[in-house]
Amino acid sequence: MPEAVPGRRGFPAGRAFGLLAAVFVIAFGVAVLLLASDQQRVIEVNGRLQERTFPEIIRYQRLARNLEQLRQEGERIFAVSSHASRQQSMFVVTLIASHPSVLEHPEAARLAREVEQFLGQVVGQSSRSDKRPMGHYDEWQGIAARLGILVDDISIEGINLAGSDLQQASTAMNLARYKLMAVLLLVGLFLVVLVVLVRRHLIHPLQRIDRALSGLSADKPAPVFNTSRLLEIQAVEEAIREHHALLVQNEEIRRGLESLANKDGLTGLMNRRHFMQSAEVELQRAQRYRRPVTVAMADLDFFKKLNDTYGHAAGDAVLKAFAERVREALRQSDLVCRYGGEEFAFLFPEISTVETVKLAERLRAGCADNEVLLPDGRRVTVTVSIGLADASECPIEAALRHADEALYEAKRQGRNRVVIGDAGAVTNPIQENP
Ligand code: GH3
Ligand code: MG
Ligand code: MG
Repeated sequence: MPEAVPGRRGFPAGRAFGLLAAVFVIAFGVAVLLLASDQQRVIEVNGRLQERTFPEIIRYQRLARNLEQLRQEGERIFAVSSHASRQQSMFVVTLIASHPSVLEHPEAARLAREVEQFLGQVVGQSSRSDKRPMGHYDEWQGIAARLGILVDDISIEGINLAGSDLQQASTAMNLARYKLMAVLLLVGLFLVVLVVLVRRHLIHPLQRIDRALSGLSADKPAPVFNTSRLLEIQAVEEAIREHHALLVQNEEIRRGLESLANKDGLTGLMNRRHFMQSAEVELQRAQRYRRPVTVAMADLDFFKKLNDTYGHAAGDAVLKAFAERVREALRQSDLVCRYGGEEFAFLFPEISTVETVKLAERLRAGCADNEVLLPDGRRVTVTVSIGLADASECPIEAALRHADEALYEAKRQGRNRVVIGDAGAVTNPIQENP
């Protein structure tokens, strides 16, 4: 479980989904219990039907059949002319009238006894005759009608017995069906709610987190989240924001370190190491495409004397001012570095050595014609000597060596001038030295 963070409001995902599951389990459990109780009722009714109701129905059916046979035997006594046949039927009537199924039903027992007595009299009176005893037939028809009604009543009574049980079973089964539908609806509803909640509170935030993580960069603004209600998601979103802040911080540090590693601390120009790497790449590119490229070495004249006269801080100010002038004079594509002390190295792509002279001359003249304001308010003019060399057909080290030789030549010729490799010097009026 995530720790409670002050100011962060929401629910722990485990507790939220646990609560949801508990509500569902309780609702589902109650529904299942209700279903089970209906099922139990159906089972009970079914048991009762098999153990009690069906035997009862069979008993009623048997009684109805016996009474019906009683009626038929009575009918036969009046229908036959043979006394022996009448006695046979009378025997069956006596048997039926004393049958346990008849005796245990009071109304049937009473009517059967009445039938037995009546038919006994009829058979007794016709014992000597082989004629049909039609003298009591009307009276018999009344009794037979009562017998018929009793048979119908008993049959209906038997069917009614089953009807009530079947009604109860069907009610219970109907109830169970509705409850089952309710349970299924509940499950479906729960699943829909669960899917909606999972999509809204888990899947969508995770997708946003995924997108934020994929696009996380120090160059882009910090990701913005629709803050989730779940503490765990909030914690991850917070971690991503912190991670982004860290990325930005690290990027700033990296740029700072890169600047420290590649730049000269005093002038802000490239340092020698970085210049050599960049110049190497640039030179290879130029040589591959057979493009013109020139290098140059520049050195401030009588700088030691300037230091000795005005102090080291003044020397630093002059170095910075020269770097500023270089930045203004050079094109975007030109490379320049503080090669060491008051020496500077240049690489001019896409420009021949002769054309570079104009550029170098502009730089030289800019130095010679403008005073530098020192920290103590005094002003001083500093000149620069520049040596140029074609670099289109040799490695960077060799090209710089040639430029250095030209620079030496410029110094030798009196300083404050631009000299091209072996091509000679471009002279300029020598400025007054400090
Ligand atoms: P040249 O005209 O022949 O180039 O003479 P120079 O005096 O300029 O050359 P030298 O090599 O004799 O002196 C260079 C001086 O530059 C020596 C050193 O004290 C000074 N220097 C080197 N780096 C710095 C720096 O970062 N700041 C200051 N103020 N001076 C520096
Ligand atoms: Mg110098
Ligand atoms: Mg020097």
